[in-house]
Amino acid sequence: MKSWNVKNFTKFSLSALLLGLIMVMGCAEEDILETDPILVPYFEMFAEEAALRGIEVDYVAANIEGLMQEIAQPNVLGQCFRNEEKPRKVVIDIDYWNNSSEFDKQFLIFHELGHCFLDRSHDDRVDPATSQCASIMHSTPQACSFNLTENNREAYLDELFGQ
Ligand SMILES: [Zn+2]
Repeated sequence: MKSWNVKNFTKFSLSALLLGLIMVMGCAEEDILETDPILVPYFEMFAEEAALRGIEVDYVAANIEGLMQEIAQPNVLGQCFRNEEKPRKVVIDIDYWNNSSEFDKQFLIFHELGHCFLDRSHDDRVDPATSQCASIMHSTPQACSFNLTENNREAYLDELFGQ
């Protein structure tokens, strides 16, 4: 009699545990953001630069993920897809990425997260002092002259997060 009770209790516990696990996994599945490991350090860099300027970045709360894909359209290096229900997606063109310098990569991530996280639109203003693009958020490489460097990076990031 004793062993019957123990056996059934164990069975019940295991079933309950299994059910619990299935429920936890089922819930978690919807919330998992799958940012490509290649992009993770750059997403973290964006969050760190934002934090330095008083902006808290939580990609899970904001529901933003980053993906590497082959973008078919020519001259499109990256994209931000906004969708209220599904995760917002930053999509980076693999070929462009693989042939880019470190600063080009940073520019692309900051630009796309400028759309996806900061909700910024394009901004083609020219800085009269430098005759260069005033913002990382310029629309195309032809819009104004732009070259992200060690020297102007801070100012561009101040502008990006300061809007
Ligand atoms: Zn853009």
